[in-house]
Amino acid sequence: MQISPIPTLSEEINDIRLRTADIVANRIIPNEATIYAGGDKSKKLRKEINDEVKKQGLWAPHLPSEYGGMDNGFLELAYMNEILAWSPLGNRLFGVIAPNSGNQKILVKYGTDKQKKKWLIPLINQEMESGFSMTEPDSAGSDPRSLKTTAVKEGDEWVINGHKIMTSNGNRADFLVVMCKTEDDGDEGGANSKMTQIIVPTDSPGLTKVRSVPIWGHTGGDHMEIKYENVRVPLENALGARGSGHQAAQDRLGAGRVYHCMNTIGQMWRAFDIMVKYATEREVHGGKLETKQFIQGFIADSYMDIQASRLMTIHCSEIMDKEGDARVDISAIKVFVPAAGTRVVDRAIQMHGWRGVSSDTPLAGMYQGFRTLRLADGPDEVHRILIAKEILNRYHDGLSWDFGV
Ligand SMILES: Cc1cc2nc3c(=O)[nH]c(=O)nc-3n(C[C@H](O)[C@H](O)[C@H](O)COP(=O)(O)OP(=O)(O)OC[C@H]3O[C@@H](n4cnc5c(N)ncnc54)[C@H](O)[C@@H]3O)c2cc1C
Repeated sequence: MQISPIPTLSEEINDIRLRTADIVANRIIPNEATIYAGGDKSKKLRKEINDEVKKQGLWAPHLPSEYGGMDNGFLELAYMNEILAWSPLGNRLFGVIAPNSGNQKILVKYGTDKQKKKWLIPLINQEMESGFSMTEPDSAGSDPRSLKTTAVKEGDEWVINGHKIMTSNGNRADFLVVMCKTEDDGDEGGANSKMTQIIVPTDSPGLTKVRSVPIWGHTGGDHMEIKYENVRVPLENALGARGSGHQAAQDRLGAGRVYHCMNTIGQMWRAFDIMVKYATEREVHGGKLETKQFIQGFIADSYMDIQASRLMTIHCSEIMDKEGDARVDISAIKVFVPAAGTRVVDRAIQMHGWRGVSSDTPLAGMYQGFRTLRLADGPDEVHRILIAKEILNRYHDGLSWDFGV
C-alpha cells in the first residue's frame, strides 16, 4: 500500500490518511490470518491494535468528539475509509462496525439523555452489542412502509408483536432497534408517519431468536430470524418522537449506504493492488500475465471502475457535508459502487485462476460482500427508480439536471 498526500486536501485529512495507512499496512494486513484464527494470540493482537488506534486519535471516526469520536464529516470519512477498508478487519479495529455504528449515530441524533446513558455509552465502550430489526419475511423489505410488526400502547408500555428476518448481529445483541407500526392505516398522516423505532432488550420475555440465516453457505453470520410475541417495553424506549421511525430509518440507511460505498472502494483498491502485482509475477503461455492484452484490459477497466467510484462517493460526501439534497447521489453510488466492485473483483479472481476462488486471497470474500450489497441497504431497483423519479420531476417542473451541486 503506497499512500501519498493528496495536494488538494487539507494537511489534517492527509495526516489522517497516512496514519491510518500505516496501521492498516503494518499492523493489520500482516496479522490478518492470526487475527481470524482466534484464540489468545488473536485477542492480544486486537487489543494492541485497538490501543494503538486510540492512542493515535483515530478511534470511532464516525462519532462526534463528545462521544470519543473524531468529529469527521463525510468527506474526511470518505478519504479515511478508503484506506481503512483495505482490510475487512479495519472497521472493527477502528471502532466503527455495523450495525453498532448505525445505532450509535441514531442514538446520538434521536436518543434522550437517559437512553444515551443506558444504551449509547455502553455501545461505544464495547460493553454492549446491538442490531437493527426492520426487514420481515412476510412483507417487502424494499418498501418498509409495508411492514406488519406493531407496537400498541398499553398503560406505560409498548406491546410489540411481529416477525423479523436478517437482523444482523442479532444473536450477540444486547438490544435491538425495532421498526414498528404504531399507528393504524386509517389514522391521520401519510404512510411515512406511522412508524416508530423502539429499543428492545434481547432478554425481553416474548422475544424468540428462531435461527441464524445462513448466507453464502455460512451459518455463523448472525443474521437472525426473530419473533416478537407480546414483548413489553417501557414507553420511554421509543427512539425519537412517535411516528418518526421512517425518517430515522432514512437517516440511518442514507449514511450507512455512503459508508458501505467507502468501504467497498477500500476493498476494490486492495483487489486492484493484488491483481496488478500478480500480473507482473505470474508466467502463462510464454510470458508474464501483464504482457497479455486481455489482462491489460482487466487492469485498465478496473482503474476506471475504482476512480469513477471514488469520485462519485467524494462528490456525494461533499453534498452530505453541505447538508444538500443528496438523495440522488446516495442512490447512484449505492447502485454503482458495489456493481463496480463486483466487476473489479471478478477480473481479479479470473486472473488468479484457482487462487481467486480459494481462501488464499481475500477476493472470494470480497465478491460475496459486494454482490450482497446489491440487495442490502435496499435493492438496486428501488434506488434506480428514485434516481429517475427525482430527475424526471425536475424536468416536469420546467428545470434541468445540474450535475455540479
Ligand atoms: C447480508 C444482509 C444483511 C442484512 N441485514 C439487515 C439488518 O441488519 N436489518 C434489517 O432490517 N434488514 C437487513 N437486511 C435485509 C435487507 O435490507 C433487505 O433484504 C432489502 O431491503 C430487500 O428486502 P427484501 O429482501 O424483503 O426484498 P423484497 O422487497 O421482497 O424485493 C425482492 C426483489 O424484488 C425486486 N424489487 C423490489 N422492488 C422493486 C420495484 N419497485 N421494481 C422492480 N423490482 C423490485 C428487487 O430485485 C428485490 O431484490 C439484510 C440483508 C442482507 C442480504
